[in-house]
Amino acid sequence: MAYADSVLIFFAGSCAGSFLNVCIYRLPRGIGLLAPRRSFCPACRVSIRWPDNIPLFSYLCLGGRCRDCRSAISPVYPLIEIVSGALALLCLARGVGGAAFIYLLFFYALLVISAIDLAHRIIPNRILLLLLLLGVAGTLQLEMPPGGIALPGLLVGALLLLLVRWLGGIIFRREALGMGDVKLGAVVGFFLGWQSFLLALFLGALLGLLSVAFLTCRQSREMPDTIPFAPFLSSGCLLAWCGESVFSFQLSVISSPLSVLEWIAPLNAHLPFTINQ
Ligand SMILES: [Zn+2]
Repeated sequence: MAYADSVLIFFAGSCAGSFLNVCIYRLPRGIGLLAPRRSFCPACRVSIRWPDNIPLFSYLCLGGRCRDCRSAISPVYPLIEIVSGALALLCLARGVGGAAFIYLLFFYALLVISAIDLAHRIIPNRILLLLLLLGVAGTLQLEMPPGGIALPGLLVGALLLLLVRWLGGIIFRREALGMGDVKLGAVVGFFLGWQSFLLALFLGALLGLLSVAFLTCRQSREMPDTIPFAPFLSSGCLLAWCGESVFSFQLSVISSPLSVLEWIAPLNAHLPFTINQ
């Protein structure tokens, strides 16, 4: 990918991130995405003029403050734009086509869900439903994920997180995992297939545990009463998707221990005995 193309794709991705910021702010507050048409400052409610709405540049030029009321603009806005730009580069680096575009939309939706879960502890059903429809379209048209593993992925995602929710309820005597997380697990399982979902769940849980351990060690006052799981599962999902080739060996062993023989089959010729596969 040429340097100029990369810059252009990153900028286009950050423009999409600007729209994701609108979704993150408006959806949990019940504000329509189309009305009011123009973005507004959450503090003074004045509509933002277009030169002040250019991703990243406007934030830097304004010094992170609203032009009208000078109240601070959350750094989360440019962060979402940077992550969106990086996701666009990442998805297109893995291939140009319908599947890459659908996975890009998938990760954008996970970004919105994570930010909303982090701030409000809710996962909007309408985003999950849209994601599932997108996944069904992708599976029918582009066979993604390949090999008919989408539906088993949905079942494994839902059942596994239901089990964690049930066990957590017994152990901690409180709701350990919301139903939104269970539904998210089902949708993520559908997109990744059950094998990559297991890896995503493992990585997400690991990241969650490390974060809790970090906050506990620092005896941070920011330690929340409840831990949102969507940001961790989404991060695990991205890592699993990126590292599919890296972990393909481990996954093949998890799914079928005998498949390890395929990896050592080339050694057969040099062994004094034969391995039957
Ligand atoms: Zn303002």
